[in-house]
Amino acid sequence: MTVTLLNKVEHKLTVNEVVDKYPDVPRLVILKTDVHLRGVNYTDAALGAIDPAIHQVRGRSIFGSRDGQIKPLPASISLRDGTLILPDPTPIERDPYIIDLVDGKLALIDNDELLEFVELTVKPRYYDLFTTSGIPMKDIVTARPQRLDLIVSGYCHFGTKGNGCRFCDINNHNKQQVKEAGGKSRFRPEDISETIREALKEPGRFSFIHLTGGSVLAGDEVFDRELDLYIETLQAIGENFSTKKFPVDVTTSALNERQLRRLNDETGIMAYTSDLEVLNEEKFNWICPGKADSLGYREWRNRLVRAVDIFGRGYVGTGIVTGVELAKPFGYTSEEQALRANLEEAEYLAERGVTTWSSPWVVRPSSDFHDQKSPSLEYCIRFARGLDQLRVKYGLIIDFNDYRRCGNHPDTDLSRIH
Ligand code: SF4
Repeated sequence: MTVTLLNKVEHKLTVNEVVDKYPDVPRLVILKTDVHLRGVNYTDAALGAIDPAIHQVRGRSIFGSRDGQIKPLPASISLRDGTLILPDPTPIERDPYIIDLVDGKLALIDNDELLEFVELTVKPRYYDLFTTSGIPMKDIVTARPQRLDLIVSGYCHFGTKGNGCRFCDINNHNKQQVKEAGGKSRFRPEDISETIREALKEPGRFSFIHLTGGSVLAGDEVFDRELDLYIETLQAIGENFSTKKFPVDVTTSALNERQLRRLNDETGIMAYTSDLEVLNEEKFNWICPGKADSLGYREWRNRLVRAVDIFGRGYVGTGIVTGVELAKPFGYTSEEQALRANLEEAEYLAERGVTTWSSPWVVRPSSDFHDQKSPSLEYCIRFARGLDQLRVKYGLIIDFNDYRRCGNHPDTDLSRIH
């Protein structure tokens, strides 16, 4: 069979075939991407080796997993070169990778073949502590191996109004999380400040802080209330630093110039992100109806470009849900066409100092798009290579979102090899 990216043929390249075809992309980055696309399922022996007293298990999260469950499974695993995987628990019938125990070590298995041994992330020290007001610190700030994460708003007003992004499960997941795991979805500045202070005491562990959340439409101008929440949170975090700027970035709705200046002037923020999710106006209108109604694609994009004047080239980014532009029935019908259009638009942004990164699309069971299919591995790898090449061409750095700080984007994993 002729192997082609056009969706006219059924055959999608396997991980080994993609490794052979793209020798410039490290095998472990390709493997990580495929694990992201297919998810993982744990054997009983592997589950027996996960010790929540030692290992970091999944905590409060903004999006749900492919199995629709909230369980204390590993929050992250790393491969032998430090490549990070955020493993998405996935029902066995959906053909995930298997994590099993082999010779006393956790291993990634596919079709009975041992591909790699993996390591679990050690639980941060502050995970066992409580704030003075009695809240578990791990409910307020979660962690990746080297990054602290805060969710500023666990709900998205687009979803509440019935026009959330079609791939997103934030509100359904948050309801489930509050019901099953309890806790609150917003915290007082004092509790946030105290938690960050404790987390930073762990020597050599954390190098970056990231804030995100759902869109908040309230305020005199759209997103004013959302901006207030970020400023309040950033100021609380900033109490723990002696310099005005500290290593933190935010992913918010697209703020206008006045709002961006406030964010920059009143906080210690170093980088700014607002996610376009989809790099085409027509597909964006269909897939992100709330974003389209509130600002529209062009204004969302223009605001990113204007943010470069404030934060600098390469310190403004946008995240793309790779492959959602291929959803049926109104998405691209050819991966080749989608790839070309995506990279053209990413180049438009890169020329203007905005960097683009990709998160391969995970089809979530409580999203509108729950019955769609993820894109092919080859498509995700070609897009990742293209984004990496654009960053090189336009001299854009990705230090605040690389394999250490974030670890969720195949394209930013590639930045470590230049
Ligand atoms: S803006 Fe879209 S992707 Fe972001 S939280 Fe809201 S619905 Fe989800």
